[in-house]
Amino acid sequence: MFSWLKNPWKRSRGGRKAADPSAPQIIPRGEHGISRKQISDYALKVLYRLNQAGHEAYLVGGGVRDLLLGREPKDFDVATSASPEEVRKLFRNCRLIGRRFRLAHVHYGREIIEVATFRAAHDVDGDGTTSDNGMLLRDNVYGSLEEDAWRRDFTVNALYYTVSDFSVIDHTGGLADLKAGQLRMIGDPQQRFHEDPVRMLRAVRFAAKLGFRIEKEVETAIRELGYLLEEVSNARLFDETLKLFLSGHGVASYELLRHYRLFGQLFPETDACLSEERDLFPHTLLLRALENTDRRIAEGKPVTPAFLYAALLWEPVRRESLLLMRRKMPALQAIQVAGDAVVARQLPRVQVPKRFSLQSREIWEWQERLARSTGKRAQRLMEQPRFRAAYDFLLLRAESGEELAELAEWWRALQESEPVVQAELLRQANRPGLPPEGGNGPVKKKRRRRPRKRPAAPASS
Ligand code: ATP
Ligand code: MG
Repeated sequence: MFSWLKNPWKRSRGGRKAADPSAPQIIPRGEHGISRKQISDYALKVLYRLNQAGHEAYLVGGGVRDLLLGREPKDFDVATSASPEEVRKLFRNCRLIGRRFRLAHVHYGREIIEVATFRAAHDVDGDGTTSDNGMLLRDNVYGSLEEDAWRRDFTVNALYYTVSDFSVIDHTGGLADLKAGQLRMIGDPQQRFHEDPVRMLRAVRFAAKLGFRIEKEVETAIRELGYLLEEVSNARLFDETLKLFLSGHGVASYELLRHYRLFGQLFPETDACLSEERDLFPHTLLLRALENTDRRIAEGKPVTPAFLYAALLWEPVRRESLLLMRRKMPALQAIQVAGDAVVARQLPRVQVPKRFSLQSREIWEWQERLARSTGKRAQRLMEQPRFRAAYDFLLLRAESGEELAELAEWWRALQESEPVVQAELLRQANRPGLPPEGGNGPVKKKRRRRPRKRPAAPASS
């Protein structure tokens, strides 16, 4: 993978050692693996137009990193010497966004090229750009390419590619780290995590995605400073959580988060359940849910945060609903009350937009419905659009060791059988999973049957 790096690397490194340590390493065209063919036409268009207007412009961040690694970039970010206003004047299809720092979004149909003006590291002289504990409050001081490189998070994320001579520019030693498969922080990890604790989650995400090792000092800082995540807004943590779990590397992200004790910062109640080691299945359930998600993403199938959250919070919900049932609350109500309570306690940590949390709650409630429905009711459930996610979740629980194998099998058989067998299954009075008479039975709603009108002619079959 790194054949392009072998020779040029030695030569360039030798050159750098003797020179000014702040001098960048420049990898010329032909000595690195990036070709224009791999870059989106729109990103190229933006780079060329900025250059033509006399501005510096580079591809930077994950795009360059992934191209050098032979991976397909998720998106293309551009860094430029032009101010956001200057960028806007050059592109009619451009919108300026962001309050903390202004970014230009250049729109081409559904593709957006993000163009950021070079920024300098924040001012550390205590002029109000950081909070008392070092967190960055303002980060919008414009700067040079070099300053822009040093304010980025990891060295492998601070590589710049230019179309003016097709070289790659490395100010921070990112190429060496890329070659070593290592995530190294630019600057002092402790300070950089204080400035922005989300960088800890980014370290985990990139380690999971790229299979990179997290450099020792960074590791030590993460172990010490995980608690700083408490200061991060729940909305930002929601975004990061989606990137961690819904980008195709969910299993690896989860395992690393647990390893570095960051998972508990995001999902404290779930983490507490997992740490008890009373049962294995909550852990298995999460792993399986994430495995399925990773597989679906690899196959290009859609995934939903609602299912993910249903899995992430299931164990606290399950336990709380059992407690409520022991206090004689009817099962369906217990799961609703427990679901509401767990979501309410989770929200201050990681925000979940209502449209997703409502769906997660439905998935939980449906677990009760699936357990207790027979006959016509079961058939009606099966015909509803919500059925699929609820059934998938039931399967997940069964596969993870909850005692639901028979029930899951019954629903599978019901879906896959011929109508005659289906009718037989629906008639079964003692379907597996049905709670015993007189136990913590289902919500006993009196069924009020409206007299049905007989159809004039018998329906087909
Ligand atoms: P991905 O493949 O997920 O897009 P990325 O590295 O491009 O990875 P982005 O979140 O798109 O990540 O950010 C683009 C670049 O901006 C990063 O590569 C990094 O250089 C810089 N950056 C982003 N977030 C931070 C941060 N919190 N602190 C410092 N630099 C950051
Ligand atoms: Mg990116």
